[in-house]
Amino acid sequence: MTTAPAEAAKGALARYEAVIGIEIHCQLKTASKMFCGCSTDIDGAAPNSHTCPVCLGLPGTLPTINKSAVEWVIAAGFAIEAQTPPATRWDRKNYFYPDIPKGYQISQYQLPLAANGRLTFDTSAGPVTVRIRRAHLEEDTGRLIHQEMAGRRASLIDFNRSGMPLMEIVTEPDIRTAEQARRYAEELRLLMRTIGASDAEMENGQMRVEANVSIRPIGREAFGTRVEVKNMNSMKAVERAIGFEIERQAELIDGGDKVRMETRGWDEPSQSTYHMRPKEEENDYRYFPEPDLPPLMTTPEWLAEIATRIPELPSVRRARYTGEFGLSSYDANVLVNDASATALFEGALAVGAGVSPKLLANWVTGEYLRLAKGDAGGGSVDPVELAALARLVADGAISGTNAKEVLAEHYASAAPVASIVEARGFRQISDSGALGKAINDALAANPAAVADYRAGKAAAVGFLVGQVMKATRGQANAAMVQTALRERLEAAE
Ligand SMILES: [Zn+2]
Repeated sequence: MTTAPAEAAKGALARYEAVIGIEIHCQLKTASKMFCGCSTDIDGAAPNSHTCPVCLGLPGTLPTINKSAVEWVIAAGFAIEAQTPPATRWDRKNYFYPDIPKGYQISQYQLPLAANGRLTFDTSAGPVTVRIRRAHLEEDTGRLIHQEMAGRRASLIDFNRSGMPLMEIVTEPDIRTAEQARRYAEELRLLMRTIGASDAEMENGQMRVEANVSIRPIGREAFGTRVEVKNMNSMKAVERAIGFEIERQAELIDGGDKVRMETRGWDEPSQSTYHMRPKEEENDYRYFPEPDLPPLMTTPEWLAEIATRIPELPSVRRARYTGEFGLSSYDANVLVNDASATALFEGALAVGAGVSPKLLANWVTGEYLRLAKGDAGGGSVDPVELAALARLVADGAISGTNAKEVLAEHYASAAPVASIVEARGFRQISDSGALGKAINDALAANPAAVADYRAGKAAAVGFLVGQVMKATRGQANAAMVQTALRERLEAAE
């Protein structure tokens, strides 16, 4: 294939409609594992150092439910407008891989903690709403490591991840393009971070996105054969892998072949999907109710208490920024999609420095995010200092160009804005007496420019402004200089 997958998908989408459902697993932010007391702080820990008889699946052990994991799923359910039933249940999902020590996983099948939700997000073609079938709680598996040992291929297993709490969120097959799939996953990630349920970093497996992709001729009702795509380790990979898969399936059908039901993996180096294994059917898992755990009851009081902990959600925040503050929807998106930008904007607004929200938003979406995402990332901006800086610019006390330098220095050193302005001599000369002398000098020293201006060359004033700025080492208020020069030049005619 010579065209890029994303563009190629547009080709296939002229003839076929893609039908995409997304399953997302999120590691929940709890202190201990799902059914035992082992710590979830396993980053960089020695293999198998965070295990106990329960999460090793030893015979005779009994699980106990982690309450805060349950509450995170209920909170996520509220955030996706889902319903939580008065009673939910645990089920055993039976399958045999070496990374699952019990030979089954405790999950939820028939009565998930949240059902019938939805999520609305923006795309380049406008807003899209996707129905969410369910969000349920389950336990994570261990991790297999394949490596050479003493000249032989060996498979090692680390059970530190075994029993970590996972939330699985499953959409209806409502997604139609690779871009919609990426945007859905991005919005869900933002939602999880906003409510605090998960850090949802794809790169380290805290959030895992899988897609079921099929295509059908445009106008046909029946679904095509679906293929599951795994191993997409970034948002970009989600869009590319699905785009590639749509095109691959279209080529197969156009060539008279059939799409096989299978699980495929995304291979980043070759930017293509490859066969991993035949896809299991749901009945292969032989679900049955977990005999070691009673059903879980949810009271209205408990649900109401969880609801009070949910902060302002991204969709509500965007609407407030565009409605109340008059920000463009682009600016509102940029602010809301980055947690540090949201916090800085809200913090600077709260200072009440008399600077308009629009001006503060410009500083955050422009200079702040440029610094935070650039090579010098890792610093920070104090909201109080940002408000002070925006105030200085609004008052004409320092120039916009100098203010950018001040912010960069504050970002790197955390020094107060006022002392940086002082130390660098950035305070503008706005005093008309001091400016008047510099203007007089410039007029006297440049009779040719004065004559040009009076002969109708209006641009000559720019040269004179430059001379005054030079003489004041850039500290003159350029707008004031320009106005004063014009007045002087015209008054003397
Ligand atoms: Zn354990």
